[in-house]
Amino acid sequence: MNDFTEHPTGHPDTDAVHCGENRWRGTITTPIAYSSTFVFKNVKEMLAFGKAEVPHYEYSRYGNPTRQAAERKLAALEKAERAVLFDCGMSAVCGTVLAHCSQGQHLVITDDAYKQTLNFVRTVLPRFGIRASVVAMGDYHAMADAVCKDTVMIISESPTNPYLNIADVEKVVRIARDKQVLSVIDSTFATPYNQRPLDQGVDIVIQSTTKYLGGHNDILGGSVAGKASVVEPIYQWQRVTGGVMDPMSCYLLIRGLKTFGLRMARLNSTAMTVAQWLEKRPQVKRVYYPGLPSHPHHEIARRQMKGFGAVVTFEVNGNLEQTLAFLDSLKLCLMGPSLGGPETLITHPALNSYYNVSREERYQLGIIDELVRLSVGLEDPEDIIADLEQGLAKCGAR
Ligand SMILES: *Cc1c(COP(=O)(O)O)cnc(C)c1O
Repeated sequence: MNDFTEHPTGHPDTDAVHCGENRWRGTITTPIAYSSTFVFKNVKEMLAFGKAEVPHYEYSRYGNPTRQAAERKLAALEKAERAVLFDCGMSAVCGTVLAHCSQGQHLVITDDAYKQTLNFVRTVLPRFGIRASVVAMGDYHAMADAVCKDTVMIISESPTNPYLNIADVEKVVRIARDKQVLSVIDSTFATPYNQRPLDQGVDIVIQSTTKYLGGHNDILGGSVAGKASVVEPIYQWQRVTGGVMDPMSCYLLIRGLKTFGLRMARLNSTAMTVAQWLEKRPQVKRVYYPGLPSHPHHEIARRQMKGFGAVVTFEVNGNLEQTLAFLDSLKLCLMGPSLGGPETLITHPALNSYYNVSREERYQLGIIDELVRLSVGLEDPEDIIADLEQGLAKCGAR
């Protein structure tokens, strides 16, 4: 009989249910192994473990059965040789960079990366003598030109926050291969359901599993996946510095992933419905959704994505006061950052993520007063639309 826990089918729906499961003594769900340490029966077993002759665990920072089950499930979904789980997405980002880059080395990153990733690159890395070039998203000449003899990796994201820009993954891979540096994609907004950057030749794919993979707004987590040879140094980094996901969160991630395919199919479809509806509203100036032909990167998205995800960003037709009145009037859509859970969330990037940045500075970044970001949830699309409709009454018509 095919062992579906060991052999991925390539179908996310099946692999999310079965792959990696540790059906210890026949439990259908992987047990939560709350054990900091693991004991050996005798000296012989301890010595055999040291020589890697018997499978065994030693200490949970190095490996834990529940975490390993979750890592194997994620590796199957990414079609990766190996995945490593961290306690949050930022640990995965920082671990990837610090495991591969040393003093005097350099990386290239696109300018609309996740805010804390840019913060890490700009404020933390220089203290350790690691330099970075920040290049405009979509400018592949600048990306190639920024690579120098010290460059170790090119980091990009797709789709990005909040404008859902799409990196042309093929182009990033071509530049990285040409220059013999690593390509790293933060694919959190897409998930392995909608895109598999490793299939396109990317070396390392990062996910904040806090978002769609966990899928229930209840855990933090991050993953790094790729070929065993590029993931191994990141695992060795984690062995030393920690930042491991705890067994309960691993269990919740595994549990969340059982419905991954169902959730993503539904989220893709609801987000498309909502985006199309918003685009027709007189109170909405502009909608950014890679699934819409009006999105500047729609063609790239169509080429490399199966679905377009569940974040829809739009500009309402009104001033700051009207935009905030719109947000205040929403009842079903909850106001808060993050994305990827069952609850529809709405956020105002200008006064939430960029509250400590001057208006001038955030306008330069395109974070304008009337911009809102919707993370579509699992509710009935009609209810989401009805809530947005009553809220948009607070805004002016075009
Ligand atoms: C949320 C997020 C992160 C950070 O993940 P945490 O789990 O919050 O640490 C990194 N990249 C992207 C694109 C994200 O959305």
